[in-house]
Amino acid sequence: MIQKIENWIDETNVAFVTQRNSCTSFEAAFDGFYSPDFLRKSYFVLVKDIPRPDFPELRQIGMDNFIDMPVAGITYKNTYYIRRELEQDLHLHFHELVHVAQWNLLGAPNLINRYIYEIQQHGYNEAPLEKMAYALTNHFALDAKAIDVLEFVQNKI
Ligand SMILES: [Zn+2]
Repeated sequence: MIQKIENWIDETNVAFVTQRNSCTSFEAAFDGFYSPDFLRKSYFVLVKDIPRPDFPELRQIGMDNFIDMPVAGITYKNTYYIRRELEQDLHLHFHELVHVAQWNLLGAPNLINRYIYEIQQHGYNEAPLEKMAYALTNHFALDAKAIDVLEFVQNKI
């Protein structure tokens, strides 16, 4: 099933490749948090509805809530999808970029496995991968000293 999800993700990213935007536009805003190189290799897509894999197998293992809950954005590998009306929400971009870093560092199969496990064990709000993204975003929002997010995630993940 992990493979099936990864295939779906790859197909989704390919389907949106012409609509994606490079994150280089955030270089100044996220200076010290995300390197220019990292931002150059990260992308976002503005969508009306956030694409999510709706497989019966996922529902069978208790992921219904996750599939159905309204979300502002979601990250698949180096690309995140956010609702069109939230384009200007810098904190949302920051949050999703933490997930891009997590995908980069864990690799797709590990991240998918772990994310599902965490949602099952803790629920979305308490999932450690989510808590990490929210904590770093809060830090950024407080205008606190810059943290190299990739390094931070590498040490904490
Ligand atoms: Zn998140």
